[in-house]
Amino acid sequence: MEKEPLLYRVTPEDLAGHLLRVQLRIAHPHPQGQVLSLPAWIPGSYLIRDFSRQIISLQAECAAQPLSVQKRDSHTWQCEPCNGPLTIEYIVYAWDLSVRGAHVDESHAFFNGTSVFLMAHGLEHERHTVDLRAPSGKRNWQVYTSLPRAVGHPRCAREHGFGAYAAKDYDELIDHPVEMGTPQVVTFKAHGALHEMVFTGVAPNLDLQRIAADTRKICEAQIAFFEPRTRKAPFLDSADRYVFMTMATGDGYGGLEHRASTALMTSRTDLPVKGRAESTESYQNFLGLISHEYFHTWNVKRIKPAAFAPYRLDRETHTRLLWVFEGFTSYYDDLMLLRAGVVSRDHYLKRLARVISMVHRSTGRLKQSVAESSFDAWTRYYKQDENSPNALVSYYTKGSLVAAGLDLYIRHATNNRRSLDDAMRLLWTRYGRDFYRGRPTGIPEDGIAGLIREATGVDVAAFIDRYAHGREDVPLKRLMAWAGYTLQWTTPNGRPSLDVRTRIAHGETHLATVYEGGAAHRGGLSAGDVLVAIDGIRVGGDKSLDRLLDAYQGNDTVTVHVFRRDELRGYRVTLAPPAPTECRLTARESEK
Ligand code: ZN
Repeated sequence: MEKEPLLYRVTPEDLAGHLLRVQLRIAHPHPQGQVLSLPAWIPGSYLIRDFSRQIISLQAECAAQPLSVQKRDSHTWQCEPCNGPLTIEYIVYAWDLSVRGAHVDESHAFFNGTSVFLMAHGLEHERHTVDLRAPSGKRNWQVYTSLPRAVGHPRCAREHGFGAYAAKDYDELIDHPVEMGTPQVVTFKAHGALHEMVFTGVAPNLDLQRIAADTRKICEAQIAFFEPRTRKAPFLDSADRYVFMTMATGDGYGGLEHRASTALMTSRTDLPVKGRAESTESYQNFLGLISHEYFHTWNVKRIKPAAFAPYRLDRETHTRLLWVFEGFTSYYDDLMLLRAGVVSRDHYLKRLARVISMVHRSTGRLKQSVAESSFDAWTRYYKQDENSPNALVSYYTKGSLVAAGLDLYIRHATNNRRSLDDAMRLLWTRYGRDFYRGRPTGIPEDGIAGLIREATGVDVAAFIDRYAHGREDVPLKRLMAWAGYTLQWTTPNGRPSLDVRTRIAHGETHLATVYEGGAAHRGGLSAGDVLVAIDGIRVGGDKSLDRLLDAYQGNDTVTVHVFRRDELRGYRVTLAPPAPTECRLTARESEK
């Protein structure tokens, strides 16, 4: 153990208090005083999170003598000079039930390295060893992670055991989250590569076999997509397996990608149970999430923007290319469900149409481009408020429409001989395949049009200028028509509208967003108002507003009473006529 440059020991210590004890031993600390820091953000989630605020105590020791440590800024500690070995011991509070942090209780422990592992400055490129210790009284717990076991180490962990694991550098160390506990587990191989699916949280009667069979098809489709000849899984450059870590909760949804694993959160009602074979929309959403995060194994974990090669974890790191990394991934996540055969074409078209409707609902898309939205992700997309639909565009949803548009445009221009697929494969071979094998370069900010042209022969520079750098709507109706699909706008119901997004809480209807220029806006209503009555009839929760509006026609003027804060106010609002806000996509007969 003495020879390791860096050894961390992690022990879930006080499960009811949600504490992790971490000891870091540095054999040869910096002679002028070792500097240590914790990342301010976690790659994949572009918001400064200040994980260091969860370190609730920290001490240092050198040659068994206490050593003074000073805080240098919010994330950074400076030790007094010492000859080593240096031992830092600290306690991390772990009670963040999200895919981004750390969460410990008597049922399990989950952590991301960004919450737990202090970085030793100057030693980032050394081998990092981690000794995972079982909490007392939890001998039945097992360990699930894509972090490789420290083979050859005297305390090397057994398969799924506690003990030593190792990463070749700090960047790798923090890219393999760890789950400990007694989860439900299913494994499968996709093109020969081992995949583990780990489900934490209460999920009775889970149909693990069905989930594994569907996920396997998705993984195989994606591996064959990027490596049609070798069918080699991308993560084998870093780990011997890929791990899907899913936390099932009451109403969670989200995922975070890593180089050989992903942390997911889903509602347990989205997961299929044994004995029921129907394909619900919510299960399709779960498979879409799996497909999305798995696609990131190539697109953003290996094919990266130059700004992320390497990551700078102490500050916001801007790129105008998130529409490529999140938008293209969002386009391919559902497309891969279709290609893998886990959703029908009708279901696929419905899912795509839903995204088109969503993007077109908000006028923010006319004020911000997806390139601008990418750049400002840190302060705008990740800090959304009631006005966001009026002010910004999502580089996920509109980015996926730009990808769809590019794909259709390239297919049309080449008579279906080339597609966006060719561009993705060029990005993979040029930037991704050897990323962790010593060629860590990323795509330059202005590089994407040239790369697509190189892969397909099609000049897409003007297309990208208009629809990704500019704020125009992607002309999907025309592009779809070329490809044999009909895009129509339909009116979802005959009901007039207030042009608001609502949120129901405690049996009351709250205005979550007032759409700019809509009926409520023109009448003076505001986000945050609680609807009390329309023409003197009480508005409750649930579908109460819809039922009341059913009695009216478009352009009728009604009196709307609201509570704004604690003040009762009345407004005259002219209702908007039913509008064609719902996109429908159909294949023309000849294409069926
Ligand atoms: Zn993503």
